[in-house]
Amino acid sequence: MKAEIIAVGTEILLGDIINTNAQYIAKRLADIGIFVYHQTVVGDNPERIKEVYEIAFNRADLVITTGGLGPTKDDLTKEIAAEYFNKELILDETSLQSIEEFFSFRKQPMSEGNKKQAYFPKGGIILKNMHGTAPGCIIKEDAKMCILLPGPPREMIPMLEEEAIPYLSQYQKSTLHSKVLRICGMGESYMEEMIKDIIQQQSNPTIAPYAKEGEVTLRITAKAKTKAEAEDLIHPVEMEIRSRLGEYIYGEGDTNLEEVVGKLLIDHQLTIGTAESCTGGLLAGKLVNCPGISSVFMEGVITYSNASKMRRLGVKPETLDQYGAVSKETAGEMAKGVAELGNTDIGIGITGIAGPEGGTKEKPVGLMYIGMYIKNELHTKELFFKGDRQKLRNFAVVQTLCWLRR
Ligand code: ATP
Ligand code: MG
Repeated sequence: MKAEIIAVGTEILLGDIINTNAQYIAKRLADIGIFVYHQTVVGDNPERIKEVYEIAFNRADLVITTGGLGPTKDDLTKEIAAEYFNKELILDETSLQSIEEFFSFRKQPMSEGNKKQAYFPKGGIILKNMHGTAPGCIIKEDAKMCILLPGPPREMIPMLEEEAIPYLSQYQKSTLHSKVLRICGMGESYMEEMIKDIIQQQSNPTIAPYAKEGEVTLRITAKAKTKAEAEDLIHPVEMEIRSRLGEYIYGEGDTNLEEVVGKLLIDHQLTIGTAESCTGGLLAGKLVNCPGISSVFMEGVITYSNASKMRRLGVKPETLDQYGAVSKETAGEMAKGVAELGNTDIGIGITGIAGPEGGTKEKPVGLMYIGMYIKNELHTKELFFKGDRQKLRNFAVVQTLCWLRR
């Protein structure tokens, strides 16, 4: 079954909101082995909605739309679908009643427009909306199927999960199952190089690497009749990848780096303090994301100015004069300073040039230094990345977390 997702809404086209519905639906269809070949976004314009229906049904068996089921005049998805399938819209008394109840329960007046939400293409299967007024609908004609879902994710998701997916499961022939490995401390291209032959040899499972905020993610996806069979296909490939990438793999699935690092610190009862300049507390914020971190994370200071680096962390004026605020010497003194300040096992200092201004030939934007003072020993690292200010700051934090993990 070939599927297409159409998100209806001018606000998506304008970039005011992100099309998270398409992402969610695509993922869930993949889980049940239905392949999405196209995703389309169209504004609330009747001619153009009609046009995308035509295109979509020419190339797909299943079209899922989201949005445009509301009470207002610009909500037209259902009306146009009915027209496309040449079905008249008829009133469904049960839906009308639940819409009326929705309003009386909230002690709100019901508009004339809400009544239009109780009309459905003749023969359609009505999908209840437990979280709003707009019911959804399935229209089926010969080999073509159209599923209309509301726009707001809190209405769309339960309707998809509780009604549309169970309905579609009868068409399920195969399933796609994925395993995600999370990697840090090596770049995407270097990693690809290390497993290039495995990637090229495989067609089932497929292996897709992608970089995300300084980390690399590897998705291994297998297609099979059942989830268990897919897992059997994935297993040997995963083992081969693990044997090559080893330590660089820090977790799988939804695990995140800060939680892995936080857990390590907690398990080893290693106390930590952080001193941040260009990252401005981003590292501290990540650490605080980990439940239970209070037993080891003692303090985080943001020492943005030179004065603050000297006053709070005891960075020497000579160091700043001679090497500058962005230097491995300063990062080191920051790390040592914060470890002494909080009497911790580990002290981290981060300083760098996040840009876009402030770079020089010797010290360009993207140059970062990390200092790590651990059990009376000082280590420093020089790093250089490319990207905008936020990317660079994120990158520095990810690299620090990677380093802490080792
Ligand atoms: P309503 O009854 O709220 O009018 P609707 O089915 O007509 O529902 P829209 O009017 O298209 O849906 O969208 C309502 C809201 O739902 C949007 O303002 C937006 O917040 C959210 N939304 C719509 N489409 C999407 C989408 N594709 N991804 C994420 N959110 C969406
Ligand atoms: Mg609407």
